[in-house]
Amino acid sequence: MSEKITVIGGGAVGCFAAITAVLEGLDVIVIDPRGPMGGAASRSAGIVTVQLDERTDVLLVLGSLRLLGEVASTSAVRTGFLQIGRMEDLSESVEAMNQADVRYELFYKDDVRYRWPNLHVDEEEVSIYTDLDLAVEPTILASEASEKLSELGVRVIRDEVVSMRTSQDVVSELTLSSGERMKVERVILAAGAHNNVLLGQLGLQLRVQVITCYAYKFDLGSPTNLPCFSDERLHSYWRPWNTMMVGGGYDAEWAVRPCYEHREPPRAYVERSLRMLRYRVRTNVTPKALSSLSGPCEITEDLEPYLGTVEGLSNLVVAGGLRGYGLMRGPKLGEMAYCIAVGKRPSLDVERYGLQRLLTSHGRG
Ligand SMILES: Cc1cc2nc3c(=O)[nH]c(=O)nc-3n(C[C@H](O)[C@H](O)[C@H](O)COP(=O)(O)OP(=O)(O)OC[C@H]3O[C@@H](n4cnc5c(N)ncnc54)[C@H](O)[C@@H]3O)c2cc1C
Repeated sequence: MSEKITVIGGGAVGCFAAITAVLEGLDVIVIDPRGPMGGAASRSAGIVTVQLDERTDVLLVLGSLRLLGEVASTSAVRTGFLQIGRMEDLSESVEAMNQADVRYELFYKDDVRYRWPNLHVDEEEVSIYTDLDLAVEPTILASEASEKLSELGVRVIRDEVVSMRTSQDVVSELTLSSGERMKVERVILAAGAHNNVLLGQLGLQLRVQVITCYAYKFDLGSPTNLPCFSDERLHSYWRPWNTMMVGGGYDAEWAVRPCYEHREPPRAYVERSLRMLRYRVRTNVTPKALSSLSGPCEITEDLEPYLGTVEGLSNLVVAGGLRGYGLMRGPKLGEMAYCIAVGKRPSLDVERYGLQRLLTSHGRG
């Protein structure tokens, strides 16, 4: 009989932990009341870019691009990504890409105008272009991920884990909200902003905060033919999708608890993002605000993700802390969570992601 692994949460992390595990021959169960990629992942703005500020993050995204490529067909378009700003605004990510051996091009105002006539870049600004990056439509990705899991024989249970029972040094049983109890062998906890709620039942708390992130969809009336881009001066980020631009001004608020219900953002947020979009993208018609996206994300005190085992619970791996950058970093983090769960060495050095640094209490027993 094959080994069994149970993944709590089928989001950006859990879904790809499950896919990796089943491809390695394990018997895999995913438990998620919202279905695969149905939590924060489905509300994401859908930008996957290698242009991040830190080498390991860039490597995480490179890994995620490969994993997403195995699932996403119609949900992802390789648009590339353009980062616009003053050279000093872009230098950290340029250095991170150099360290990760990622190829990029430096464009000046006229290069950008030639390639994307609608995109506005100021005289003193430069742009960095990478061509690997994706524009992803997360709702389509969610359907593709569901199909992939079912095709691979992963059992998906659309229910919520309400408690975890331990026995000696392992998590031995999960209880679902339906009342069903499940014996478990190995567990990956990838419930995103809910990880801390479940860890709390084990007497553990991580120093993480929950935030509600917002993004917006604007209709420009005709296809934009733009790449994904970020504006490092006004601080906004954008993804093209047909006639739409999706993104905004990185708006987020502290939340007391994770909320998956749609929360309408304050009008001022939408208007500010619209102004940012209009500054960069010149159109004949005024972009129309179509709808907004909102969802819970987790943020750690040092802004780094976490990944590792819990001391004293040998069969539990916990992964998360991805902030608003989890669609792009989560799949690779999920793959590495699987590696740790089965005692394999993860392909990236993730020592500094260890849970120990974030634990505020260790009251098990
Ligand atoms: C508005 C917005 C815009 C964003 N834009 C981007 C972007 O452009 N690019 C990017 O990379 N990232 C973006 N993100 C961030 C990204 O969505 C998250 O970082 C990522 O989804 C986190 O992955 P995760 O697997 O940790 O959590 P999630 O994707 O939230 O997955 C966790 C899963 O656990 C499930 N769950 C919760 N509790 C339980 C329980 N008790 N039992 C079982 N299952 C449970 C949830 O239903 C959920 O599906 C954005 C997020 C938001 C909200």
